[in-house]
Amino acid sequence: MYYPFFMRQLSLLKTALLICFCTAAQRTILHCGQLVDVKSGKMLNSMTIIVEKNKITDVRNGYIQPNSSDQIIDLKNKTVLPGLIDMHVHLESETKKGGAAERFVLNPPDIAFQSIGYAKTTLYAGFTTVRDLGGSGVNIALRNAIAKGQVEGPRIFTAGKSIATTGGHADPTNGYRKDLAGDPGPKEGVINSVADAYQAVRQRYKDGSDLIKITATGGVLSQAKDGANAQFTMEEIRAIVTAAKDYGFRVAAHAHGAEGAKRAIIGGVNSIEHGTFLDDEAIRLMKENGTWYVPTITAGKSVADSAKIPGYYTDIVTPKALATGPQLQATFAKAYKAGVKIAFGTDAGVFAHGKNWMEFVYMTEAGMPAMEAIRAATIHAAELLGAAEILGVIESGKLADIIALDADPLKDIHAMGKIHLVMKDGKIVRRN
Ligand SMILES: [Zn+2]
Repeated sequence: MYYPFFMRQLSLLKTALLICFCTAAQRTILHCGQLVDVKSGKMLNSMTIIVEKNKITDVRNGYIQPNSSDQIIDLKNKTVLPGLIDMHVHLESETKKGGAAERFVLNPPDIAFQSIGYAKTTLYAGFTTVRDLGGSGVNIALRNAIAKGQVEGPRIFTAGKSIATTGGHADPTNGYRKDLAGDPGPKEGVINSVADAYQAVRQRYKDGSDLIKITATGGVLSQAKDGANAQFTMEEIRAIVTAAKDYGFRVAAHAHGAEGAKRAIIGGVNSIEHGTFLDDEAIRLMKENGTWYVPTITAGKSVADSAKIPGYYTDIVTPKALATGPQLQATFAKAYKAGVKIAFGTDAGVFAHGKNWMEFVYMTEAGMPAMEAIRAATIHAAELLGAAEILGVIESGKLADIIALDADPLKDIHAMGKIHLVMKDGKIVRRN
């Protein structure tokens, strides 16, 4: 009789303990020496952030006293920012000498395995959210694996496969031998009519994309001659944007040349990527239409550097890289001065993943204050993503995506590359 009674007591005790643990969720208390308030554009001193589960539940002045059950993180000699957002990456690949041949040897599982490393590198560099602007479709599986916690990486908003026209920048068979090239259609992202445009957008909905990416002009790294010509008709762009709206997609348009950029802006895309040869009229149209600019200066500089290495790119790509790359920073300076809305994006993959922070250096070099560059990679990027409700700011109710730097980026922008801590969704993924 004694024994079952004891057991019953024990199980009651266990239940009580369980209730106790469930009701008092552990809080993580971050004591921040400096905190970048991207909303006001001010640096705050001696602040406390309170995180519960995956959310920020409070931000208070001073260093609050923790409870005995709190986890305390001392960042009193660090600078704390919202997790960074890169609006233009390609997590499936990374540049290398002669890399154009990889399409013929890599199978989707090979691409998947290498993308796992690139995703981790990106997250550890403080980028807790990215937009993947085009790949083979593995980028959709990668997004899902990260969301399920199977793989470490940033939160991904992915375009899946880009949409181009025949021979255009994202035609996946450009440069192939004729019998291999075939005639890819809307499913693969190659369209040549309004009807194709609708089909391609709907296919991306079926595939599980989060947004639409079009290549409105020629591009640097495709195996095609022109790096800047217009590649869609006005009607095709309008059809893509109209179809995209039906599915809640935003549209990002790669564009180097001004004519293709203007068609995309007038057609209603949400952002122009690269924008290398934007002229005054294109800049004016962007302001009128509220079109965002995602500059990717780092990509421009790095492709121009790589093109100087013999054999790095194919003969058709090298002259485009030399002509296009160096122009980007000056165009960015002009667009920023004119008051175009800017969201941070790098085109990482075109250069080594994890070096995304270099974009901050190039943006400030071109005349943008450090605080504005940080806002472009946080609060403004979140707005362009359509995720301003949950991302981009350290305040109560937002997801707990937080990073800490060893130095103050307002004093030296290179501090953006000195990561001390990365928290994503309330979990510490990196701490030096
Ligand atoms: Zn790109």
